[in-house]
Amino acid sequence: MNTRSHNSYTASKASAKASAKAFTKMSKQVMDMPAEQLCPCGGGQSCIVDRRWVGDWVHEDNVFRNAGLPLRKNCYTKFTKIQTDCLGEYLYNNNKMKLS
Ligand SMILES: [Zn+2]
Repeated sequence: MNTRSHNSYTASKASAKASAKAFTKMSKQVMDMPAEQLCPCGGGQSCIVDRRWVGDWVHEDNVFRNAGLPLRKNCYTKFTKIQTDCLGEYLYNNNKMKLS
């Protein structure tokens, strides 16, 4: 039985899949977003929906995830009291660090 050729076939298939995945990530553009997923704010550099779509770091998502809070759906979603408190606390601590 020739297992060697079978293994190399599996390996090349896996690497092709990995490079296709990397290409998809690099080429992801805001304009590729389906219309129903677009943010009501109109999108832009600071739009949380746009930033999530292209894989950019979203500050509030990071803060909320660390605090175990739900993320906002889009820029027009109102912050809950606990989300505001959490962001406020983060900004307060951040400013304190900068000042000292
Ligand atoms: Zn937005």
